[in-house]
Amino acid sequence: MSGSFFSTVLLSFAGHGRQNTLFMILLLLAALISGQIAMVAWKRRRIGPVASAVALFMLASCWWGLTYAFHWSGALEPSNMFWLDTTYLGVVIVPTAYLAFALYFTGHGNWLTKRKIAILAIEPVLTLILLWTDSFHHLFFGGTQFTNGTAILSGGPGFWLNIVYSYLMILIAFGFLARFAVTTTGTHRKQAVLILTGSLIPWASSAISVLDISPVPGLDLTPFAFTLTGLVFAFALFRLNLLKIVPVARGALVEVMSDGFFVTDLNNHVVDINLAAQEFLGITKASIGKNAEVLFRNTPELVESYRDVAEGQYEVFTEYYGQRYLDMRVVPLYDSRNEYTGRLYIFRDITERKTVENEVREANIRLKEQLSEIENLQEELRMQAIRDPLTALYNRRYLEESLEKELSRARREGTPVSILMLDIDHFKVFNDTFGHRVGDAVLRALGELLLQHTRNGGDIACRYGGEEFVIVLTGTTLENASHRAEQFRIAFEEMRVTVGGAELSATASIGVAAFPLHGSTGEAVLHAADQALYQAKETGRNRVVVWEKEDTGG
Ligand code: GH3
Ligand code: MG
Ligand code: MG
Repeated sequence: MSGSFFSTVLLSFAGHGRQNTLFMILLLLAALISGQIAMVAWKRRRIGPVASAVALFMLASCWWGLTYAFHWSGALEPSNMFWLDTTYLGVVIVPTAYLAFALYFTGHGNWLTKRKIAILAIEPVLTLILLWTDSFHHLFFGGTQFTNGTAILSGGPGFWLNIVYSYLMILIAFGFLARFAVTTTGTHRKQAVLILTGSLIPWASSAISVLDISPVPGLDLTPFAFTLTGLVFAFALFRLNLLKIVPVARGALVEVMSDGFFVTDLNNHVVDINLAAQEFLGITKASIGKNAEVLFRNTPELVESYRDVAEGQYEVFTEYYGQRYLDMRVVPLYDSRNEYTGRLYIFRDITERKTVENEVREANIRLKEQLSEIENLQEELRMQAIRDPLTALYNRRYLEESLEKELSRARREGTPVSILMLDIDHFKVFNDTFGHRVGDAVLRALGELLLQHTRNGGDIACRYGGEEFVIVLTGTTLENASHRAEQFRIAFEEMRVTVGGAELSATASIGVAAFPLHGSTGEAVLHAADQALYQAKETGRNRVVVWEKEDTGG
């Protein structure tokens, strides 16, 4: 075991002289470098405990080199064993700090609880106690150390305990680093591989000593090896600049983001919760570890909505914090072995958006209502433009427009169009006798009667003026038209209008003419019908007269 790690004590009794000065200078150099690295790492401790671990590792290494150098100088030694006793403070810290570094670096830092750190410190403290009290029990050096002032290559149980323990720490750390380097992908891989390479250096130095091929025989290479390792670590961590920045940044992001964020484990216990979620839910980090259902009892909607959901996005409405809408996202979490370990919840307050959405929706409904109101008004206006308000029949303007259309169609299709012109008999007398209002009632009743008898889509009934009416019968021959006119006449004659208990009736005269028989234009046919009407009046009223004079084209 000589010449390998931690054999400092045994090798320290080699001869003195110029060689010792060389050793001293080399060790001081190593100590200087270690100290520098320790300072750099300490300055960067904010990036995480991994930097502090490197700082401690290098500080111990620096101490080792420094005190060992003092030992070689010989001059400064207050007592025979003083510097070696002091050196061991560094020797026992190095492996533990190294392991701590490996754990932090590979993401197992949470394993290092205060308790575990205390347990890890037992052996180093014990070693120091054994060493410093060796003269009482000789458990460390085995009581055989000072023969001829040269190295003795075997120690006591205390010495060996420390050797084994130190190797064990280094081996475990190496295991973690090796596994991490193999499994890590992406940006951290290069860093992980470099650090693994750095951690090979102590093993190499150990091999050199064991194989006895050291370029400086007699000098323990271990402090140099660790200095070199620290140098590689520092380079990998600080120069490659990758050190946990991504996870650190992620952690910071989760804290500062305005979205609420919490994580539950398989048993629905909250394992993490960010500031936004704490504020929104009115809880603190102290709630970590508690059951989510109990924690969020104020928002049953929240609990209910995620209870059965493994994954998804949905809206939650809660009234506990004022009426608020939450956009909730649930993401199932799987560990590295792809096993389901819990759920991540992200929620965002979307009340403002929802409020605006609702307002827009309501405004839309109002707009639609207004639109249909406008459409109704427009329809009414259109009706007013073409209908007579008293009788609801078409007005004269509409008749004149549509008559021309009907006639041109009839011309195209070669079909007849008949026109009836109706006038109430002695209506002036009627008005004078019963009053204008009663006259209006008769006009309205006649209007209804005409509407009823002209439901057929082709017929157009209109109030031509005063008590005169025109009915256009499309596709109707003169003969049929005369029958229809007679029906109208009878129906009107039989119609009764009840006013103040009295039943009143009136009669009408009707003139009939047809296109193209009696004229080639609407105006001409209307004129013919009017003339027929005049004849009906002349010949006694309450009758239908069909115009007989054929159109002569003049
Ligand atoms: P006849 O046609 O049989 O020759 O006699 P008449 O009394 O109906 O003759 P005339 O055409 O001269 O009179 C039309 C009357 O119709 C005049 C007017 O009092 C009445 N009249 C016209 N428009 C309206 C109306 O809107 N309401 C009422 N109540 N009467 C009206
Ligand atoms: Mg009249
Ligand atoms: Mg008249």
